Amino acid sequence: MKRRDKDGVTPIFGSPEMREPAPAEFIPKHKTPAEIAYQIVKDETFPQTQPRLNLATFVTTYMDDYGTKLMNDAIGINYIDETEYPRVAVMCGRCINMVANMWHSPEKDDWKTGAVGIGSSEACMLGGVAAWLRWRERRKAAGKPYDKPNLVMSTGYQVVWEKFCQLWQIEMRTVPLTKKHPTLDIEAAIAMCDENTICIVPIAGVTWTGMNDDVEALNNALETYNSVTGYDIPIHVDAASGGFILPFIDPNKKWDFRLEWVHSISTSGHKYGLVYPGLGWVVWKDKKFLPEEMSFSVNYLGANISQVGLNFSRPAAQILGQYYNFIHLGVEGYKEIHENSMNIAQYCHDEIGKMSCFTNYAKKIENPLFIWYMNEEYDKTAKWTLFDLQDKLMQKGWMVPAYTMPKDIEDMVVMRIVVRQGMSRDMADMLIADINDAVIELEKLQYPTPSRIEAQKKGKVFTH
Ligand SMILES: *Cc1c(COP(=O)(O)O)cnc(C)c1O
Repeated sequence: MKRRDKDGVTPIFGSPEMREPAPAEFIPKHKTPAEIAYQIVKDETFPQTQPRLNLATFVTTYMDDYGTKLMNDAIGINYIDETEYPRVAVMCGRCINMVANMWHSPEKDDWKTGAVGIGSSEACMLGGVAAWLRWRERRKAAGKPYDKPNLVMSTGYQVVWEKFCQLWQIEMRTVPLTKKHPTLDIEAAIAMCDENTICIVPIAGVTWTGMNDDVEALNNALETYNSVTGYDIPIHVDAASGGFILPFIDPNKKWDFRLEWVHSISTSGHKYGLVYPGLGWVVWKDKKFLPEEMSFSVNYLGANISQVGLNFSRPAAQILGQYYNFIHLGVEGYKEIHENSMNIAQYCHDEIGKMSCFTNYAKKIENPLFIWYMNEEYDKTAKWTLFDLQDKLMQKGWMVPAYTMPKDIEDMVVMRIVVRQGMSRDMADMLIADINDAVIELEKLQYPTPSRIEAQKKGKVFTH
């Protein structure tokens, strides 16, 4: 591509690059001026919707200016370079302490046992691996085979658990979610356990439904089961969302280290920890629950911090963002923000519940997110589906996903709203008005939409 003379004055959109396809296969042979390359990359990342109108994601889309500035300033810092930035590791240790104490860790040491991760996915992996290694150790010590580990959780699992079981070759035993048991059926979960069960994984804030598994009831059932069988099956709580909601919204609810068999908990700092992605935390109840071979001790500045993680290099900026949030917001601030989110989610839930075409999945919301479905009677004659409503809302800039539920109730189509910091009551009113308008439009249809025809073809009459 030949550039015109006097490049310096060629406007970006008058440049030859702007009429050529963007490089896709090979590194371009020639240089491109920075402002043009910038524009091309920038334009590739046009969001499909405004991040704050994205009610599909759980992940932080708003941080205040100071938090954003701190993180941007730290963009070049590698967390692992602790000799260069020793205070970052100390800061990380402090964050782990605060998270551990938020979950009532009984550990007495100055530095609680935990790890930072890129998200809950890494944190769940670490919690799962620790449970598996501990189980293996016990089996070895007892002279028993240790080649058939299994893990028990509901079908409401997030995909990371499928990855964990696949990568480490652990049998995944799943308890179906049903209308009768919209969260983990404890009796059925216990019935799936045996001597090879490495742990049970209840979820605080099920991604599919927004509900919480009853960790306390599970703990009590396990207490009996373990004492009768002599097994030591522990609980890892996947608290990706709930880990930062429950301590502020429902502090008296026991789901954390206050329960005997909860040995580890993971959460996403970039969900309700209110930090930009990617950040996750995992904490063990005590050093003894973290197998030594997973923990690498580093000693600097007189602080002995154990390092655990799948990654070596990782950005440090998120740790600064988390520590900033802890200092700036405090318990008070987190409580206010999450109470507002709960309040707005509850408002949307009530308004949607009033619409004759919809039914809410749960009567009560437990986290600032909820799902609903098309009312059974309405569904029989409707010419549209929730997928059409999703498209309609997209035209207004909202991202509100419709999806089918997990196996055993996969015929059920639902829609979900996740309320996060950045959503106001006024925005909720705009959303509800847009949903109302969309439904009025859809009701004017003479013929069924392609997605309705598709559903009819499959004979997928609504069931749940
Ligand atoms: C979001 C989520 C995950 C994965 O978390 P990331 O932080 O995106 O890696 C795991 N489990 C549950 C229940 C989740 O909601």
